Amino acid sequence: MEGGASLDAPLHIEIYRQNPATRAVFHSHGPHAVALTLNGEDFVPVDFEGQYYFPRVPVIRIPYEQYVDESPQAVAAQLQSHKLTIVCGHGIYACATSINLAYKWSCSLELSAKTAWLARQL
Ligand SMILES: [Zn+2]
Repeated sequence: MEGGASLDAPLHIEIYRQNPATRAVFHSHGPHAVALTLNGEDFVPVDFEGQYYFPRVPVIRIPYEQYVDESPQAVAAQLQSHKLTIVCGHGIYACATSINLAYKWSCSLELSAKTAWLARQL
């Protein structure tokens, strides 16, 4: 993995290794999802679609300086039983049987987080 391979390459490989049904992994940095979970607590959607598709999204806390070493195992382990996981202060990982579906989960999570954020402004 020299010369431009993603820093996250070992993480993606570990997800595929631990989750044989996974065909795609999508990583994103949705600002609402990241901001709302900076406290390290799991994200529980308040909107219907979020509750329906992902009633609880686990949040993983990994010290930034240990991210490269610890994230492959930690993220892959959560994605064995969840569609999505959030790494505290960093971003979202979604797995699915296609890249389109993994992208959809990521967009749905960001929309749920934005909705929750808007609701808190009332
Ligand atoms: Zn990232």
